[in-house]
Amino acid sequence: MEETRKLASSIHPGSGAWDVIIVGSGAAGGMAAFQLATAGVKVLLLEAGRMIDGQKEYRTMEWPYASLRRGRLPEGERPIAVAEYNMYDRPYGNHPEFAPYKKLMSYAGSTFTRNWVVNEKEHPTTGTPFAWVRARILGGKTNFWGRGALRYGPLEFKAASHDGYDVDWPISYEDVKPYYDRVDELLGCSGTKEGLMQVPDGIFQRPSKLNCVEVHFKRAIAKLDRHYIPGRAGVTTDGVLSKYRARCMGRGRCGRGCDLNASFHSPTALIYPARDSGHLTVRPQSIVSEVLFDEATNKAAGVRVIDGVSRDVMDFKARVVILGAGALESTRILLNSRSRRYPNGLGNSSGVLGCYLSEHLMGIGGSGYIPIRKGTAPTLDDGRPVAPYVPRFRNLTDRHPRFIRGYHFQGGGGCAEYPAMAHEIEGFGSAFKEQVREWYPAPISLGGFGEVLPRKENRVLLDPEVKDAWGIPVLRFDYRFGDNEMKMVEDMAEQIEEMLTVAGAENIQVRREPLPPGWSIHEIGTARMGEDPKTSVTDKFCRLHDVSNVYLADAAPFVSGGTQNTTWSILAMCWRTMDFLKEEMKRGDI
Ligand SMILES: Cc1cc2nc3c(=O)[nH]c(=O)nc-3n(C[C@H](O)[C@H](O)[C@H](O)COP(=O)(O)OP(=O)(O)OC[C@H]3O[C@@H](n4cnc5c(N)ncnc54)[C@H](O)[C@@H]3O)c2cc1C
Ligand code: SF4
Repeated sequence: MEETRKLASSIHPGSGAWDVIIVGSGAAGGMAAFQLATAGVKVLLLEAGRMIDGQKEYRTMEWPYASLRRGRLPEGERPIAVAEYNMYDRPYGNHPEFAPYKKLMSYAGSTFTRNWVVNEKEHPTTGTPFAWVRARILGGKTNFWGRGALRYGPLEFKAASHDGYDVDWPISYEDVKPYYDRVDELLGCSGTKEGLMQVPDGIFQRPSKLNCVEVHFKRAIAKLDRHYIPGRAGVTTDGVLSKYRARCMGRGRCGRGCDLNASFHSPTALIYPARDSGHLTVRPQSIVSEVLFDEATNKAAGVRVIDGVSRDVMDFKARVVILGAGALESTRILLNSRSRRYPNGLGNSSGVLGCYLSEHLMGIGGSGYIPIRKGTAPTLDDGRPVAPYVPRFRNLTDRHPRFIRGYHFQGGGGCAEYPAMAHEIEGFGSAFKEQVREWYPAPISLGGFGEVLPRKENRVLLDPEVKDAWGIPVLRFDYRFGDNEMKMVEDMAEQIEEMLTVAGAENIQVRREPLPPGWSIHEIGTARMGEDPKTSVTDKFCRLHDVSNVYLADAAPFVSGGTQNTTWSILAMCWRTMDFLKEEMKRGDI
C-alpha cells in the first residue's frame, strides 16, 4: 500500500521530535493518541501492521453468494494451528467431503478478515493451547470487533469485597464512570436504560428493538426474574460530531468492518481526527521489540523497532512510552525489555508480570424455535449492529452453592440473512423448501460469556527458544480453566436449557462444552494494577510501579474481567490514564 510505504520510509529516528511514543493503534493506542494529540502533545504512534483503507477493505455490502464458500477459507489458506476453533459450523451441509472445512470459519479465518489477522506460522505461541486472535493492521481488532459495548460495574471493580476471592481493583466504578460517560458521548453507544446494577446504564443513543421472537423470550424469562434487553452497541445510531463517521443504517454484517464507520473503528473514530490536530505522526510497519531503559535515570528512553519490510532496527526516543499493543503483546514487550536492573523484564520486580491472565468462558449456549413465529411472514430481523442479551443473574445478592462470579448470554432470534437452520432440516425438493420457509422466522440462539477467575498460575512467559518471524521471543502460555469455571459451565448449560424451555421453544439444542481457552478474544490481565508494588505491576493510573514514564493503555492492568466484553472499559480506562499523564506533563513531573 502506497501510504504505508511512504510513511514507513519517511519516518525514522531523528526525523521528528516526539514527547510520547504510543505502541499499537487499536482501541487502546487509538484512544491514547486521540487524547494526547488533541491536547497538543507531540505523539509518535508505532503500529506493527500496515495502514488500512476502510472504503476498499470493509466489504460490508457484499452478498454472501459473491464470496466463494460464503466467506469460509479453504483448508490451509490461513494457518490456525493453535487457535483451531472447534466451533460447530457446517458451511456446506453434512456431506463428509466438506468435513475439512468445518473448523475453518472463525474470527481469524473468513475471507472478509483474513488480510488483517496474523498468520500463525509467523506468529507462533508455545505451551498450552490459546486461541489468540491478533490483528496487525491500523486499528487492530477494532476493524472487525463485535461492537458489544458494556461497562464494568461495582461488581467487577469490587469483586473481592463481594465474594472474598483474590483482590479488588484499586479503583471503583465511581472513578471510571465519568470516563465511560465521555466515551459514550464521543464515540456513540446504542442501548436502553435498564437500571441494572450488574451492567450500569450509559449515555445511550437510539437502541435496536427486540423482534417478535425475542419479545416472546423476554416475557417468558421475566417469570424467572431474568432480564433480556436490547444489545448495547459501540455504534452511533444518532450520529456523532465527526467528518469520518455516518450514523448506523441497520444493515447488519458489521463484522466485516462498517463502511459507514457508524461502528467504532479506531482509525476513523480516533486516529484520523488525532492526526488532523497536526500533533500525531503514525508510523506503520513498526514492530516494537522492547522498551529501551536508561539505568542512569531509571526511566524508559524510548523503544526499539524492527521495520516490518526492510527489517532495519531503529531506536526511537521520547519522554514517555505508552504500550497499547493489546494486553498480551504489551506484556510480551515488557518481558522482552531486559536490563541489568530489571533482568526479568521491565516493570517486573514484583515477579507478577505475565501472571493473572484471564478472559471469558465461551461456547456454552442453546438454541430452539419459538412456535408462535412458525409459518409467519419473514421480516428483516438481523439488520442491527448487535443482538440482545441476558445480563448476569448469578451471585448478585445471593451466593450460588457451586461457584462464584457469573455469566451472561448474548444472542437473538428471528430471520437472518441466510437460513442456517436449513442444515438441520432433512429432505429435498419442494417439501424441504416448504419446511425451511415455515421455520425460517422462528429460531432463537444464545451463547454465554462467563468470568474466568484471575489466578496467578494462569500466566504467560517468554519462550527461551522459539522466536517469531522477526526474531522476537514468542509467548509461552500456561493457562487452564479451573474448577470454578467447570462448575459455571454446568450451570450455564442448565440455565439456557431452562430459559428456552420456559419460553416454550421446540427442538432445543444445548451446547455444553466450552470453546478452547482464548476464544473469547477478551484477554485481560498479565500486568495487573494495585497499590502494592510487591504484588502488582502498575499503580492505579496504569503506570509501571518500577519506571515512572511507562504506561499501559490496554487491558493488561485489569484485575478481573466480569462477564462484560472488554473494549468499552479499555477506552474508558485509557482516557482516565491519559488525563493523569497530561496533568503530570503539565506539572513538569515527566
Ligand atoms: C471478531 C471479534 C469480535 C469482538 N467482539 C467484541 C465485542 O463485541 N465487544 C468487545 O468489547 N470486544 C470485542 N472484541 C475484542 C476487541 O476487539 C478488543 O477488546 C480490542 O480491539 C482491544 O483493543 P487493544 O487496543 O487492546 O488491542 P488491538 O485492537 O488488538 O490492537 C493492538 C494493536 O497493536 C499492534 N501491535 C501489536 N504488537 C505490536 C508491536 N510489537 N509493535 C507495534 N504494534 C503492535 C497491533 O498490530 C494492533 O494494531 C472482539 C474482537 C474480535 C476479533
Ligand atoms: S448495521 Fe450499522 S454498524 Fe453495522 S454495518 Fe450497518 S451501518 Fe455499520
